[in-house]
Amino acid sequence: MRSQELGAVGRGLGLLADTWTLLILQRAFLGVRRYAGWRETLKISDATLSARLRSIVDAGLLETRSYREGGRERREYLLTERGADLWKLLITIWDWEKARVPRETPLPDIVHRACGEPALLLPRCASCGEPVGPRETEVTRAPGSPGLETLSRQHPRRTRGRLPEDPLSVLPGAMEIIGDRWGATVLGAALTGIRSFSCFATVLAISPEVLSDRLRRFVDLGVLSRTGSGEYRLTDKGRASFPIHVSLVEWSHRWLGGDGAPIDLTIRHRTCGAVLRLRLDCDRCGGTFDRRSVSPVRPG
Ligand SMILES: [Zn+2]
Ligand SMILES: [Zn+2]
Repeated sequence: MRSQELGAVGRGLGLLADTWTLLILQRAFLGVRRYAGWRETLKISDATLSARLRSIVDAGLLETRSYREGGRERREYLLTERGADLWKLLITIWDWEKARVPRETPLPDIVHRACGEPALLLPRCASCGEPVGPRETEVTRAPGSPGLETLSRQHPRRTRGRLPEDPLSVLPGAMEIIGDRWGATVLGAALTGIRSFSCFATVLAISPEVLSDRLRRFVDLGVLSRTGSGEYRLTDKGRASFPIHVSLVEWSHRWLGGDGAPIDLTIRHRTCGAVLRLRLDCDRCGGTFDRRSVSPVRPG
């Protein structure tokens, strides 16, 4: 009986819906390879950085390589293929924060290498090429998948430290919606059309305290609005976070489903019937982004 085994998407959330993990991976994409590089740019404590690097390496997203410097043996961390395949998740996080969260210092642009222009992303279905949002999709959950509480028991997380303040790391909106596994789960459920407190509680098997807290934070952030009848509806800003969730689900299917984790949640594009894979097009030239078409985004 494998019904208590956490599914691919549940595992993906457990692994990736964590602020420090996402910031460490973002830096790896920007070229950071060494322990000191993360410690300096993220102002992260040794205990937190060591623990996160260990879980990221255990999950196969970074691999270590030894090199010699000044006669000493040192270690660096390189993105593996499955780690590099997170580009879509990281770029959709960037794009959403850039387009949707007002801030004093603007985030650096996402520059599309093919046209050289600062771009916003247009999400489309990779199978049929049509633009896609939550209203054009259908989500199925496998019956009997255990909730995330299973995971929380298995992998307790340390309390979060103080976050760095440089412009690359400050993604306050995005980290609210994807930087914590419960928040990501609640918003993911809202994207599937769930609106009432009792439905969230039933579908997610989440404690009422945690659920109330996340719903309140999402209302404050403007991704959900509370109606007169007490329901929670997605705002445009909330709906625009759809590509982030799809990217996480898509990656989890590919890599954790590939490892044999049961598929616990599937998103289909209603228009063409295919399991949704995202294609991200450039709003300036109409070309399609891939892993190599983003110029390194750097502050200033
Ligand atoms: Zn389609
Ligand atoms: Zn372009």
